[in-house]
Amino acid sequence: MADIEFRVVSDRREGLLLELGRLIVASGFTLQRQRMTRSDEGVVLTMVVRGPEQNLLALEDRLGSHPIVQSFEATSVDAAAAAAPPAPEPARPRTLLSEARPEPSGAAPDPGRVEALLGALAREYPDVFNRMLAFEHEVSSAHREATSRYAGTRLGAWIYKRDYTLGARLNLADSIRHIALPAMRQLLRGTELDGETLRIKDSPFTGVGLHRGTSCHFLRGCLEGLLNEPGHLGRPRVVETFCRNTGADACIFTFAA
Ligand SMILES: [Zn+2]
Repeated sequence: MADIEFRVVSDRREGLLLELGRLIVASGFTLQRQRMTRSDEGVVLTMVVRGPEQNLLALEDRLGSHPIVQSFEATSVDAAAAAAPPAPEPARPRTLLSEARPEPSGAAPDPGRVEALLGALAREYPDVFNRMLAFEHEVSSAHREATSRYAGTRLGAWIYKRDYTLGARLNLADSIRHIALPAMRQLLRGTELDGETLRIKDSPFTGVGLHRGTSCHFLRGCLEGLLNEPGHLGRPRVVETFCRNTGADACIFTFAA
């Protein structure tokens, strides 16, 4: 069991606790206490949660990438300190998130910039990569991963609505095969299904010096958008488990319900 304090900044108060609370519960955690305040940054929601350590990264990933969340920090709370009511010293800085993902802590997407981009992506689809790479160059490195991924989720949702919305309700494996695979092939011909993972040989986001570590955050976002948009699958998790940017032969995306 781990006790963790999350500090979330958002631009809206309505539904914030409800939406994030759902993710927390769905990940097997319980909300111990929470506090919502306003600051110059926006609405600040601080939550202390308790739950299984092995689910923590997944939860942090979900919270940090939720569109309602502008910035996100996680700090471990000593169990003893959590039990003592005033708990004046919340914690030592937590490093798990930054170890697992090279650039992300505190990084939030910049939705305003993405809104301006989406019209162009929709017009130029499926030839979106020149524009996306130029966009990634413009975005500051602190926001690049989250913003690119968010842009991907929006484009993926758009593709789903455009091309797949009238299809049958598929389970995750069939959604990967019949939605994610053909949609990604529209973008990148060399996309292959390998069991239940997607293998992309020729991602344009690798080797261009924009990211350390895995680099195909836009493609990851597209897959998330394609699989999240139907709704009945919940929010499947997509992880780029191997990337050419870190020396692998291909970029491999894996999925979990
Ligand atoms: Zn990659």
